[in-house]
Amino acid sequence: HALLEMRGITKVYPNGVVANHDVHFSLREGEIHAIAGENGAGKSTLMKIMFGMEEPSEGDISIRGEKVKLQSPQDAIDRGIGMVHQHFMLVPSFTVAENMVLGMEPRKGVGFNYNEAVRLTEETARKYNLAVNPKAKVEDLTVGMKQKVEILKALVRGAKILILDEPTAVLTPQETEELFVELQHLKEQGHTIVFISHKLKEVKAICDRITIMRGGRSEGVFQTKDVTEQE
Ligand code: ADP
Ligand code: ADP
Repeated sequence: HALLEMRGITKVYPNGVVANHDVHFSLREGEIHAIAGENGAGKSTLMKIMFGMEEPSEGDISIRGEKVKLQSPQDAIDRGIGMVHQHFMLVPSFTVAENMVLGMEPRKGVGFNYNEAVRLTEETARKYNLAVNPKAKVEDLTVGMKQKVEILKALVRGAKILILDEPTAVLTPQETEELFVELQHLKEQGHTIVFISHKLKEVKAICDRITIMRGGRSEGVFQTKDVTEQE
């Protein structure tokens, strides 16, 4: 079985726009898989369906061969899917540790007072080699750091599949290098990564396979080495 498979996905928005048309997307465990294509190709729509933010008009999704309904981001989070948004979903005036546990149900052993939130943040940051300061206010962080906090937030919530939406758009070249090292590291630790981008050059630098979208359709899945620049 594929780790995650989307079959025959069609999405018609209420205004009649067909953003996805009979799209097939198959994710293998442990790969870094790009969804690439120009603006308007339907990448964001497919990503939103994968994260329970939009429901498909047609088609279905399975995880490890089991059909699932993802009707909200919480459904996706419960299935081990995490999202790193291009414009981060963090509360700027809160600390990193507060953002970590925001909206989470207290769990066994973690009642979420501030010290526990700091401890959970530190532990997870150490485990994944993400250098973040739990007590820093998010508004004081660089964009690159905010992105690390978002990645950490997804990992704290148990994400095994990480979806990154145009993650390099806001980064400096050096931050991009760092992100790629982190993604490689997460892959080595058994995570699977969906990397959404319109920059084919970058995609080729980091991804194992590429699904290319155009005009709401998938043009197929390619090995990175087989994709030439003009595509
Ligand atoms: P991409 O991420 O590749 O730029 P999108 O999925 O955002 O592609 O967009 C695909 C098409 O769907 C575009 O024509 C876009 O204008 C349209 N679209 C995206 N979101 C909506 C929406 N909420 N309502 C109506 N049309 C939308
Ligand atoms: P609710 O209506 O209770 O917020 P959701 O399913 O929308 O239900 O959200 C539940 C959890 O998912 C919350 O922890 C929230 O922070 C997170 N969440 C909601 N929307 C998004 C999103 N677009 N991206 C990332 N996390 C989200």
